[in-house]
Amino acid sequence: APSTSARTPLMAGNWKMNLDHHQATHFVQKLAWTLQDAKHDYASVEVAVLPPFTDLRSVQTLVDADKLDLRYGAQDVSAHESGAYTGEISPLFLAKLGVTYVAVGHSERRQYHHEDDALVNAKARSAFGQGIVPIVCIGEALDVRKAGEQVSYTLAQLDGAMQGIAAEQAAQVVIAYEPVWAIGTGEVATPEDAQEVCGAIRGRLAELYDGEVAAAVRVLYGGSVKSGNVASIMAQPDVDGALVGGASLDAEEFAKIVRYQA
Ligand code: PEP
Repeated sequence: APSTSARTPLMAGNWKMNLDHHQATHFVQKLAWTLQDAKHDYASVEVAVLPPFTDLRSVQTLVDADKLDLRYGAQDVSAHESGAYTGEISPLFLAKLGVTYVAVGHSERRQYHHEDDALVNAKARSAFGQGIVPIVCIGEALDVRKAGEQVSYTLAQLDGAMQGIAAEQAAQVVIAYEPVWAIGTGEVATPEDAQEVCGAIRGRLAELYDGEVAAAVRVLYGGSVKSGNVASIMAQPDVDGALVGGASLDAEEFAKIVRYQA
């Protein structure tokens, strides 16, 4: 596999349905101060937060006012640009708010909102259409892992998500490997488990596209990442960052994760 040095690691905090806009403002300030105190180099490890839609404007205002190097994104996006889709959020609206990323196909959306690979693909294309980078979430449930089919299952999700996406855009995509059994459970995958599937994802990208695309794409691990386990996961050659849920809601803990510190 290509060395990780070509890829800037990305640490992304998925807030899920937590933190109202007052709490979001407080959180972002605290995170920025904590990282500033630690002299964090944002160019060596990129930092992003994925707040609820209703917080994005507040986060944008803070980032602009303080010229923060922090990136932000949304947790979902509509597959459509406009029209009769009550309750949906257009990628056009997100682009206007300066979002860099949007998570698509998070396992909670697949589970509670019945999102399938075709919809995840449509959402990824919808994001790219407005210059927003999708963080495509894939990963197997416990029964699939018990059957030893985690690689083939996850790669099938990857194939579905990348349908019709050209190499130029594919090179920018972020893939988050999130085994469902590790999300919010406190049960983290071993570094070897994470590497197995993240490496297979990169291998499939080389097949679907070419070695250049595969070498450019950041593959994140997600599932109960904490400051105490982040370093061993980040030491894996095909893990280029983490998508962090629960532990991203504490600014000091998330700052430690960003810096791979226990
Ligand atoms: C997530 O929501 O993407 C996630 C990985 O959650 P947690 O870190 O809480 O397991």
